[in-house]
Amino acid sequence: MTIETPEADTPIVVEDLHKRFDTLEVLKGISLRAEKGDVISIIGSSGSGKSTFLRCINLLERYDSGTIRVYGEALRVGPKGRIDNKQADRIRRRVGMVFQSFNLWSHLTVIENLIEGPVHVLGMKRSEAIEKAAALLEKVGIHDKRNHYPSHLSGGQQQRAAIARALAMEPDVLLFDEPTSALDPELVGEVLRVMRALAEEHRTMIIVTHEMRFAREVSSKVVFLDQGRVEEEGTPAQVFDNPRSERCRQFVRQSY
Ligand code: ADP
Ligand code: MG
Repeated sequence: MTIETPEADTPIVVEDLHKRFDTLEVLKGISLRAEKGDVISIIGSSGSGKSTFLRCINLLERYDSGTIRVYGEALRVGPKGRIDNKQADRIRRRVGMVFQSFNLWSHLTVIENLIEGPVHVLGMKRSEAIEKAAALLEKVGIHDKRNHYPSHLSGGQQQRAAIARALAMEPDVLLFDEPTSALDPELVGEVLRVMRALAEEHRTMIIVTHEMRFAREVSSKVVFLDQGRVEEEGTPAQVFDNPRSERCRQFVRQSY
């Protein structure tokens, strides 16, 4: 059963999200709304709750209070809610996630990584999945690596494969959790280029990143999280050039 609300066309609506790990309150009432085509960058110091926030949206983490709606469907992992595997599958099909550590399946080749979900979760014909995967690998520039195992790829190539794998599920929203933080500096650009192309296609994305220049250039909105709160949000120009909050001003100055 899906719970429809008037926000059925809005990809992500989060209201007053609270989350604690034992006594540590890591999200202290976060609200955020991603409209179709929004590219939202979340910035902030380590430990401010950025990963936890993204993980809540993708049902990888339960939360204590507040609401998260994905295309109008309220997630049921809030107070007293259990993770409902059917809902989790449905939501994760619409909301793909790319992790800092790539998380490719090491025992599968690149193209096998891409067709696994479409064949087994979406029920796509294998031949069709292979055709789509090939096109996606072309798009991210690693088609020549399609039959390699992840360990034979550079970090930048692995992350591009991970992005292609997320795209293979044809998601409506993509979440990125510091996708370039594990990369050597010379490999960051190739991954950001792929992400920039996705932004230019007006895909809805929420990106946790420390790449300030990138965030400034691609985002429709920037959110600065500080100690589990939205301390500042606005257009890139507002947040980077004219932050109201002193903490944000300091963070931006140090990070640029
Ligand atoms: P960020 O991604 O901004 O660095 P996180 O969301 O990873 O922040 O973490 C926020 C806070 O929650 C940190 O203090 C972190 O140590 C704590 N935390 C994260 N995950 C867990 C967990 N599974 N158990 C206990 N504490 C956690
Ligand atoms: Mg994190």
